[in-house]
Amino acid sequence: MSKLYKYVSIMDIPFTNLTQEQLLEKHLYPRLQHQEKSYIVTANPEIVMMAKENNEYKHIVRQADFIIPDGTGIVMASKLINQPIQERVTGFDLMTHLIGYAEDQQLSCFFLGASEEVNVKMVERIKTLHPYLRIAGKHHGFFDLDDKNIVTEVQKSQPDLIFVALGSPRQEQWITKHYQQFTKGLFMGVGGSFDVIAGEVKRAPKLWIKLHLEWLYRTIKQPFRWKRILKVFEFMLRILVKRY
Ligand code: UDP
Repeated sequence: MSKLYKYVSIMDIPFTNLTQEQLLEKHLYPRLQHQEKSYIVTANPEIVMMAKENNEYKHIVRQADFIIPDGTGIVMASKLINQPIQERVTGFDLMTHLIGYAEDQQLSCFFLGASEEVNVKMVERIKTLHPYLRIAGKHHGFFDLDDKNIVTEVQKSQPDLIFVALGSPRQEQWITKHYQQFTKGLFMGVGGSFDVIAGEVKRAPKLWIKLHLEWLYRTIKQPFRWKRILKVFEFMLRILVKRY
């Protein structure tokens, strides 16, 4: 049987090697109960490549308490370097579970990011899906990262969970810039997830996900992403030829 590693380092990014259930039950739920702050990065090959090319961003990513393998490419790479990660954990699924838990436990959520229209639509949808969820607040994602008013607004609402959908690297930059000013909160960058919940962008059908082709589906639906896909190929190539 292959050895299971607690962390698997891929191109200098230490990925948490836990199943979604282990991560939630053994780590995130207890931390929420104790009001222990957490910073979560859900990283795919694009993010690993961005970190490789930008040391400052790498430092920002590496500060996370949990770096989650969100991307088939990461799981494949872990197998190729003989340190298999147990399973892919997507940011979207993790966020969905956390919102469900927050509703059950009466914890409050702040939704920061996406356009004003998407932000409003997604919060309305969340209210329908989770009628008992405590919504601490919401704000669109088009502001200056140093804007103090936004930080004050989030702080004042005292959220237990803060979902930040500004895309990478902005969401990780915003979290690390302001993290020290909070005494509690689970902070998680969730990329385009608000667009999916708002119904603006469709997630790939289950079969595509099962066939590890979610990336291809997204590129077909959002062709402006093709440049990003090149980075994913470069990532895989570097892993294959062991040139990290
Ligand atoms: N976004 C934002 N502020 C910005 C730039 C982007 O709120 O300054 C939002 C954008 O509207 C979208 C999300 O961030 O909702 C990024 O989505 P994308 O699919 O690019 O992120 P990924 O999942 O690829 O990281």
